[in-house]
Amino acid sequence: MSKVLVIGAVESGIGAAILAKQLDLDVCVSDQGLISPDRKEILQRIQIAFEEGGHAQLCDSDEIDLVIKSPGISPDSPLIQRFVNKEIEVIDEIEFAYRYSDARFIAITGSNGKTTTTKLIYHVLHQAGMNVGLAGNIGFSLARQVAEKEHDLYVVEMSSFQLEGITSFQPEVGLILNITPDHLDRYNYELSNYVDAKFKMIKNIHNGGTCIYNISDSNITNKFDSIDTSDFHDRLIAVDFDVAADSGMVHFQKAAISISQGELPLKGKHNLFNIHCAILACQQLGLTDSTIQKGLTSFINDPHRLEHICFINDVEYINDSKATNVDAVLYALDAMEKPIVWIVGGVDKGNDYSPLDSLVQDRVRAIVCLGKKNEKIKSHFESIQPIIIETLSVQEAIKVSSLYAEPGDVVLLSPACASFDLFKNYIDRGEQFRDVLLQQKKIMEEGISHTFQITLNRSEGSNTSDQTNMN
Ligand code: ADP
Repeated sequence: MSKVLVIGAVESGIGAAILAKQLDLDVCVSDQGLISPDRKEILQRIQIAFEEGGHAQLCDSDEIDLVIKSPGISPDSPLIQRFVNKEIEVIDEIEFAYRYSDARFIAITGSNGKTTTTKLIYHVLHQAGMNVGLAGNIGFSLARQVAEKEHDLYVVEMSSFQLEGITSFQPEVGLILNITPDHLDRYNYELSNYVDAKFKMIKNIHNGGTCIYNISDSNITNKFDSIDTSDFHDRLIAVDFDVAADSGMVHFQKAAISISQGELPLKGKHNLFNIHCAILACQQLGLTDSTIQKGLTSFINDPHRLEHICFINDVEYINDSKATNVDAVLYALDAMEKPIVWIVGGVDKGNDYSPLDSLVQDRVRAIVCLGKKNEKIKSHFESIQPIIIETLSVQEAIKVSSLYAEPGDVVLLSPACASFDLFKNYIDRGEQFRDVLLQQKKIMEEGISHTFQITLNRSEGSNTSDQTNMN
């Protein structure tokens, strides 16, 4: 019997272990950290051996035939290299599940827009009555679904980390939305390594399948120019980032569909591109244009992505906490049709802010930093927008923003940075933003006050809003 070692007991690892057990493989699980009680309970219930708090024993076995590693673990790490050197196969959970599934697959990758586009496609297919599953970076792992509730078709969101661990995986339709510098610490700070990981999406395209890609993205087109595509040229679908629009209609030219602006479920050029790709993917699966159009119009995006929260004193508040890189912020600022008070900051991931300069100059009324270290943002933007205020909590950021915003403006939380300096993650940051605003709105609606009633509680230093540092 093959011996399978699963490294990492999060959702993908647990799913892989469940599937391996169901296939009657000899499987065990090893995790560097502590395994959560609910996951431990699953492993115990189905009698899978595990170790936690280090890879002491199970990883040392000489009898391992296959390693399924968590996408968070780099293939270059000493632990993984030990197996590679012994010529033991190391794969990702998606590759493993794919080998045991008869379903059809659509896979989506990109630096930005993966979740939105994955969910759009899933929603349209689901509305069309197909037996479709959502997997990858979202929800239950693919392996768990293959083991417990197989579908006819899966829409799989794939990060570059997950793509690194595939060998035979071949989606019927693969999408590469865009490639902008991100996660470079994993790739030796070489963009080309990151591009190569994303291009594993088309690793097996010569065996069939179609690839939909962004022809306006030079990182993608340069890579295509450097490889021989003659084998699959007729199965590449190049999509322009910009779509044509006139008299209230948006024309998705490549897909030959026009939809009235009012019926579109999402705002911004970037989302028109995502919609265009989603339409093409659904067309490839044989859906009719009217079914696609019907599905699209009822789509509601996940929170924290240009999420409208509320109006207070005629100012609109928008939560784009998921915008953790400069490219996402570029499209967020561009999507705003009103003057912006921009809340930005957190943990800088080596950002180059210059692509935002002209948008900030033309549209941003004030910059409110929400983060512990703001020097880089301040020094970059102070010559373009001298109003830069530093804050250390969502309450403070909202209060300060409300002082600068005029009726008809928008206050946009679109941080361009990770959140770990002040928050658990981007979800925590976005939820705090939403909660404070809705509480504030309630106070105002109950007539308790006509001004912002936010109590500031600085966890660090002695600053209060009155002492806010204004540059
Ligand atoms: P991902 O799953 O790749 O992180 P999301 O759909 O969660 O992508 O969106 C993350 C952020 O990127 C959001 O702020 C969103 O508005 C922005 N975004 C969405 N689609 C695109 C796109 N095609 N190009 C650039 N930014 C995008």
